[in-house]
Amino acid sequence: MALPYHCIFCRIVSRDVPSYILTEDEDCIAFMDINPVAPGHVLIISKHHAENIFDIPAPTLQRIMPVVQRVALAVNAVFLPDGINLLQANGPGAAQSVPHFHVHVVPRWSNDGLGMNWPLRPGERSAIEANAERLRAVLR
Ligand code: AMP
Repeated sequence: MALPYHCIFCRIVSRDVPSYILTEDEDCIAFMDINPVAPGHVLIISKHHAENIFDIPAPTLQRIMPVVQRVALAVNAVFLPDGINLLQANGPGAAQSVPHFHVHVVPRWSNDGLGMNWPLRPGERSAIEANAERLRAVLR
């Protein structure tokens, strides 16, 4: 498959751009994020150029997720964080800056100040049920 030359992650896959690669297999590569939000911030990207969760083939995703788990276990063992967030952005509204499927493994420490947490505020039950019905109609 021809790789989109302008895609920075495709260029990492083809080794035209250097990166701190941790591990790779047929489907994906794990490497250090160059703008880490915490020590041990890792990205796992698909080798296949899919933009995001909407267009990555499900079998590819199935094979990538165990690698995400392996990386999370390694980050946990090496950096001993208080927790780990997996983050996967889809589209500009979700602040996806590189349109090539990737999962962030972000080690977290209590009070690290990262703006990924939100307070739990109970939703209105009727609105939750109405939204569930809209989604069930699509998932049926
Ligand atoms: P997102 O904003 O969720 O699309 O995440 C893209 C991530 O890719 C950001 O955290 C960037 O720091 C990271 N990134 C962009 N270019 C590179 C690169 N050449 N090497 C490593 N990480 C990169």
